[in-house]
Amino acid sequence: MRVVTTFADARAAFRRPVGLVPTMGFLHEGHLSHVAAARARDATVVMSLFVNPLQFGEGEDLARYPRDLARDEELAAGVGVDVLFAPSLEEMYPAPPVTRVLVPGLVDRMEGAARPGHFAGVATVVAKLLAGLAPDRAYFGRKDAQQLSVVRRMVGDLSFPVEIVAGPTVRHADGLALSSRNAYLAATERRAALSLSRGLMHAADAAEAGERDARVLEETAFAQMAREPGVEPEYVELASALDADRLDRLDQTSFLAAAIRVGAVRLIDNVWFDVGDAGVAVDRGVRLSGASVLEAPSALEGIR
Ligand code: AMP
Repeated sequence: MRVVTTFADARAAFRRPVGLVPTMGFLHEGHLSHVAAARARDATVVMSLFVNPLQFGEGEDLARYPRDLARDEELAAGVGVDVLFAPSLEEMYPAPPVTRVLVPGLVDRMEGAARPGHFAGVATVVAKLLAGLAPDRAYFGRKDAQQLSVVRRMVGDLSFPVEIVAGPTVRHADGLALSSRNAYLAATERRAALSLSRGLMHAADAAEAGERDARVLEETAFAQMAREPGVEPEYVELASALDADRLDRLDQTSFLAAAIRVGAVRLIDNVWFDVGDAGVAVDRGVRLSGASVLEAPSALEGIR
């Protein structure tokens, strides 16, 4: 694996087709699942590792976001990343950036409403990575479903010649979605946080049993979260995968997304619904059978 810090050095190491896996580091099996998908199709897998200040708001966790380059290098090399692109702030933003990529409409609700400016920061950094690395494919997680809608729309609107590939949410064995931010959770908070995936899975059960009313699905999930002491649900919404608009009925490809606060920690998760001629197919994500590298450094062994 080559570790590079400039766009030019990254491009010089490429054989086509190139698959890009963008991340903010502190890697876990969710990130690594996208590497596996890229390896199956691309000659070079490049992973970017950059904690993007532009997508953090005032009072958010930019300063304390977990960072460990040595750990990330080991994990990335272990799963077959060819090029690890870890740019400095100066490489990414040679001058204080004034240009922004805005995707209005798709960011009015949910994460966009809760985190003003967040998706402008995301869309801008993704556009920069696509422009600077020119990958053939870029891999994103359904874990961040609204982000996926924003990225797909931005790529279409700006005609980036790249295919966006989405992968399922990877979960701990008990259902909690893997997130670098889980590192902030105390043990009691970690247990309470399970109400997030549990609520979504209840709603997924209802959808599989035929429920199509969005408010019923939302309330089913919300009730589970609200009942858990120490958990404050922020929103539960059924949103169109196409434009992140709130839906009244589960009659198109969409996701039921939720955000909760557990103590000082804010977590998001969703279940995804593919709607086609055959009906509704629910993507609940995939569960690890053992410990994650987030919990047990020894799980690193399983990666190699
Ligand atoms: P992040 O480092 O959190 O910005 O995430 C980088 C990429 O990994 C994004 O495309 C995320 O959607 C994806 N990702 C994060 N967590 C997971 C997960 N638990 N399962 C699958 N993909 C994930």
